[in-house]
Amino acid sequence: MPENLNRRTFLTAGAALGLGATAMGAFPQKGVGGKGPVAISSANGMAAVTRAMELMKAGSDPLDAAIAGVAIVEADPADHTVGYGGIPNEDGIVELDAAVMHGPTHGGGAVASLRNIMHPAAVARLVMKRTDHCLLVGEGALRFARMHGFPEIDLLTDEARKIWLYWKETNSKDDDRIPPPPDEMDPAVKKFFGEKYVREHGTIHLSALDTHGDVGCVTTTSGLYYKIPGRVGDSPILGAGLFLDNTVGSAGSTGRGEANLLNLSSHTIIEALRRGASPKDATLEACRRVVATNKSPRLQDAKGRPNFDVKFYCLSKDGRFAGASLWGGAKLAVHDGNAARLVECASLYDEALVE
Ligand code: ASP
Repeated sequence: MPENLNRRTFLTAGAALGLGATAMGAFPQKGVGGKGPVAISSANGMAAVTRAMELMKAGSDPLDAAIAGVAIVEADPADHTVGYGGIPNEDGIVELDAAVMHGPTHGGGAVASLRNIMHPAAVARLVMKRTDHCLLVGEGALRFARMHGFPEIDLLTDEARKIWLYWKETNSKDDDRIPPPPDEMDPAVKKFFGEKYVREHGTIHLSALDTHGDVGCVTTTSGLYYKIPGRVGDSPILGAGLFLDNTVGSAGSTGRGEANLLNLSSHTIIEALRRGASPKDATLEACRRVVATNKSPRLQDAKGRPNFDVKFYCLSKDGRFAGASLWGGAKLAVHDGNAARLVECASLYDEALVE
């Protein structure tokens, strides 16, 4: 991978570098049905919902449309939370987690701690379609992807490497590494860290409702920045990072994965929808559950509130949608046929999280 590959060059060259791999395992085209399609995602998914909408309008399966949508973000070196360009683990190696679910077949597949493959969501679809399993991890997942012809590349961009190196150099006063003086810092690294050091993370979730009223969803991530090698978050865990039921709707999550793993929040949201809750009330219920189960003082602020955030996204079978987060300021991306736009999420607390 050339070091100076810029974003535009990269996206143009996407097909050669693996975007074509996102079609592997796609369902046959269904033809266009009579219902209005909808795609929702986390706020980093404006291009993704736009692509998913184009494909569904042309008769794509909702899961295929979702995977093709997030593939844009997986391939984007500027998004440090997903795929190529993701922030690596503490050893400087990018490890990806992804899962998919398919409404019409109630199928699901996932990969975790996958190295060297730009499009883990497409690999997850093949786990669903070409194995009797739901989750492959690490070396086994890589061998499976290789076997199916996914190209291998180094996922660590030069920018992500410099960010990781700066983190290492500033991580402890007691080791021998020395960070660069501020005026010698790489501008991209300076921008990334901003004024204060925050241990960040991110992900993309996309839920899609097609022209036949079927749902599909995907969550894909490079996970927690500088994580312990092998750490797996909520994203590839069915019921946590995403869940759906084709009779009810689809849901997913981004944010602190451990809080979601301890609550299986996407499953909670779908069950709330099933009981008749609106997408907004269902996602807020999941937020309240996270707060109620967050017992550790280490994870609470002075008022006992979680000192982290999680965000939930929900799309119902009839096309209603909402997002909710613990802390204020979150948005979701939506495309319901006309244009992609960002919409405010509901929140338990009005103010934004202060870390
Ligand atoms: N949920 C992801 C994880 O824990 C990270 C994120 O969405 O911020 O791996």
